[in-house]
Amino acid sequence: MIPYGRQQIDQHDIEAVVEVLKSDYLTQGPVIPRFEDAVAKYCGVKSAVAVNSATSALHIACMALGVAKGDVVWTSPNTFVASSNVALLCGAEVDFIDIDPKTYNISIEALEIKLARADKIGKLPKVIIPVHFAGQSCDMKAIAALAQKYGFRVLEDASHCIGGGYAGQKIGSCIYSDACVFSFHPVKIITTAEGGMVTTNDDELFKKMTMLRTHGITRDQTLFAYDSNGAWYYEQQLLGPNYRITDMQAALGLSQMARLDNFIARRRILAKRYNELFENTDLAIPYQAPDTDSAWHLYVVGLPQNKNRKNIYNNLREDGIGVNVHYIPVHLQPYYQALGFKQGEFPNAEKYYRGALTIPLYAGLTDEEQRYVSERVIERLQS
Ligand SMILES: *Cc1c(COP(=O)(O)O)cnc(C)c1O
Repeated sequence: MIPYGRQQIDQHDIEAVVEVLKSDYLTQGPVIPRFEDAVAKYCGVKSAVAVNSATSALHIACMALGVAKGDVVWTSPNTFVASSNVALLCGAEVDFIDIDPKTYNISIEALEIKLARADKIGKLPKVIIPVHFAGQSCDMKAIAALAQKYGFRVLEDASHCIGGGYAGQKIGSCIYSDACVFSFHPVKIITTAEGGMVTTNDDELFKKMTMLRTHGITRDQTLFAYDSNGAWYYEQQLLGPNYRITDMQAALGLSQMARLDNFIARRRILAKRYNELFENTDLAIPYQAPDTDSAWHLYVVGLPQNKNRKNIYNNLREDGIGVNVHYIPVHLQPYYQALGFKQGEFPNAEKYYRGALTIPLYAGLTDEEQRYVSERVIERLQS
């Protein structure tokens, strides 16, 4: 089966992990800060906090932003459930902003209308989590301007797009946001098996998130509330989980960072070729907005409305092609329906979902595999 996405591991990655296994520290050792520094430097951002998943990163970022009971958080319905679950885990209420039918990211127009209404009834969101779907940035300048106007904070879910760009900057630079989260799950752009990171230019957020990933504990004596009792002394100042990443994972991530630009370059070549191959078919190919430089985590084709997506999906799977669907709109999940969300509430996300099909795209996909995939997709589209 040619999967829709997969990791690329080389000898250097393996040696980097083995080196940690032979060292004194399997976790909380020296490689984690090196990995954080490498990502921060790459993104052009002040600080980065590595954790055991992007979900954990989103969670501690929400906690550090003060999201709690009584607050409202908005995100896209076209995302993985983690983007909104983290707000619920903080005790907040969640709502969604419908997507733009071209970019599949949150619609700025829908956001403006929703904000004006929320302002009138005094129920503005505390935090908005824009999701850079498939690796393409949201319109962050517009979102930052609205954040200024209405006073909400911005947490980017950039799980799809380490290595991507926006308005001449790397995603993760946090020029238009308070914090930005990456995922290192094997299907994403680089991997640590499980892992995630949050970047920020905000020292207060950085301090809190560093504590929150490890129980709310600090060993930094400049931050102590009480006098230190000795070199063993630490303080718990906040309430947090254990979301630490290991040095083995950080070593893998650090090693992968060296090839990030190569991975992105290969994804761009493949995406461009898919665009060309599908140009004269009735598939909708991914629209790219100005100012964006996608990391191409996913290649999603839009099937015409008269086609049976389920048949095409099943047929392509029979052909050995691991097609997938991203995403079932979050508000349609039973858990969210039980919270009161209704079918039809975010019609653009629902309409997009009905025709969406993710086809294989990853750095290790060969030209031959891509040719096979595109031939089968075009053929199965006719059947
Ligand atoms: C993968 C993903 C996550 C969760 O990432 P994990 O590292 O698996 O926790 C969150 N949001 C989006 C948009 C994702 O694609």
